[in-house]
Order: sequence, then C-alpha cells, then structure tokens
Amino acid sequence: PDGLARLLEKWLPPAPKVPRPTKKIYGVDEVRAAIANGELINFYQPKVALATGRVVGVETLVRWRHPADGLVFPDQFIGVAEEHGLIGDLTRAVLYAALAQAKDWQEAGLELRVAVNVSMDNLTSLEFSGLVTGLVAAAGVAPQKIVLEVTESRLMGDLRTPLEILTRLRLKRFGLSIDDFGTGHSSLVQLRDIPFNQLKIDQSFVHGAHANETIRAIYLASIGLAKQLGMEVVGEGVEDLADWDFLRQTGCDLAQGYFIARPMPAADLPSWMAEWKAPGAG
Ligand code: C2E
Ligand code: MG
Ligand code: MG
Ligand code: MG
Repeated sequence: PDGLARLLEKWLPPAPKVPRPTKKIYGVDEVRAAIANGELINFYQPKVALATGRVVGVETLVRWRHPADGLVFPDQFIGVAEEHGLIGDLTRAVLYAALAQAKDWQEAGLELRVAVNVSMDNLTSLEFSGLVTGLVAAAGVAPQKIVLEVTESRLMGDLRTPLEILTRLRLKRFGLSIDDFGTGHSSLVQLRDIPFNQLKIDQSFVHGAHANETIRAIYLASIGLAKQLGMEVVGEGVEDLADWDFLRQTGCDLAQGYFIARPMPAADLPSWMAEWKAPGAG
C-alpha cells in the first residue's frame, strides 16, 4: 500500500471476529421485581494509589443474582431501569447497601473511600441531594468517605438541575467523580460547569496507552487537564503490568482494573487486601 493507505490502515474496521452471543436485556417488570425483592447485590472493585501501592477505596458495582440465570451484569438492566423510571429505587438500594458496608469496614479499621455510580437520571430533582445526605447521616458515615461517580454518556441539554444537586453534595464534602472521561458528549462542558474533584479516564484510553500513539496522546492530555484543574486522576481498565507501570510513570494518582482485582463480594475484600502486594513494592 502507498504511504497514505498505510497511515490510514489503523482506522479500518477490524476483520469480523467470531460473532459474540448477544446479551439478554431484561424486561422492566423483571427488573422492578428484582429491585423490590432484594436480588441486587453490590460487588466492590479496589482503587489503588500508584505512588504507595495502597488500597485507598473501592467502587461499588451492582450485580443481579438472578434466581434462574445466575449473576447478571449491569449492562443488562441499568438501561432498562433508567428508561422506565426505576433508577431512583435502584440507586437508593445500591447506596443504602454500600453505606452499611462502608460502616462495617470503618468499624473493622479499614480506611476505604466507597464510590457509588449515580445515573444522570438520578439528577433530575433536587430531592436527590437531600436523600443522599440523609442516608449517609443515618448510616453514620462521613460524606468525605463517599464518592459519587457520574457518567455523562446520556446527558444532553439543560445542566442546571444536575449542577445544583452536585454542587450541594460537594458543599457537604462528598467526593464527585466524572466517570468514563473522554467518551461522553460533553465532558469538557461538565468539567467547566460541575465541581468534580476526581476524573476517571475511560478504560479505552488507559489499557494499551503506552503502546499506541493516539491513545497515549488522549490519555496524557486527560491527565494534564485533570492536574491543571487540581483533580485526582483515576485510570480504569488497568489490565496488565505495562498499563500499571505506564500510569505510575505518568503521574496518575489511582489505578483500577483486572490487573489489580476484579470486582468482588464485600466478604472477599479483607482477605484480598491482606494478600495484595503492589508490583515493585517489596
Ligand atoms: P463503570 O462505572 O465505568 O465501571 C467500570 C466497569 O469496568 C465495571 O463493569 C468493571 O467491572 C469494569 N472493569 C473494571 N476493570 C476492568 C478492566 O481491567 N478491564 C475491563 N475490560 N473492564 C474492567 P461493570 O461492573 O459491568 O459495570 C458496567 C457499568 O455499569 C459501570 O461502568 C457503570 O456505568 C454501570 N453501573 C454499575 N453499577 C451501577 C450502579 O449501581 N448504578 C448505576 N447507575 N450504574 C452502574
Ligand atoms: Mg463508575
Ligand atoms: Mg468508568
Ligand atoms: Mg463505564
């Protein structure tokens, strides 16, 4: 191929792979019942400080223990919950359980910040800030220990209500994290308008960034932007030692990914933490 063709080769769609089994998306009635029947359970994935190797927090990731189908992942029911007005109940259930867990860890002497994913559809009414503040107070957990991760992927239009809710929560000292940074319609507008204090670089700009010029450029620009704004940076999707080393060398604050640990039930976390040794640390 000529020079230009060779240059553009990487943009061509990849050759078709073996077709993936299509995932079942659950119906609204089933999802509603799952929430009501307490079939949703929280898994937790560690976030590790790259400078020290210490586990400083976890992200709460919801799973559905389906009586017939086994463990069901959020991409098979979160969208349904969002579209059918169930996300308020879902988030409340996840947050409630995460707070109880945070309290348990606190009492066991584990110093962990606990992150919970919040949907933009949760941010449509100002009551949400009161709900969150109330649940956290009732659980006896300090707001500083709780991080709310917000993905902007479905957000368009008027930001005023989300902005007011998130600002109120930030004033109460909750952590605010912009999730999947780089993949949304309006990441930069959100950085300008919403008082986030943590930025999570999307896994598509983390895994393999060291080996790909384009991905690396976007990754480095994102780190630079976050640092300029005084934000803490998390790299998600750290899948191998090369990813880990690259993030450490480029001044990323926290790492999260399968290389460190998969999301796990709360009961498994203490023993995992006891075994965890960061690469390069003794
Ligand atoms: P997210 O918040 O960006 O969470 C990270 C996702 O990446 C999780 O998928 C996690 O298991 C996965 N992951 C972690 N490390 C790696 C890695 O090294 N490689 C790869 N390939 N993936 C990794 P999961 O648990 O399936 O969740 C998917 C998404 O569902 C989450 O993305 C979040 O947007 C949403 N979600 C999960 N739990 C909740 C929840 O309680 N409420 C809401 N509203 N959304 C949730
Ligand atoms: Mg998240
Ligand atoms: Mg993410
Ligand atoms: Mg995501």
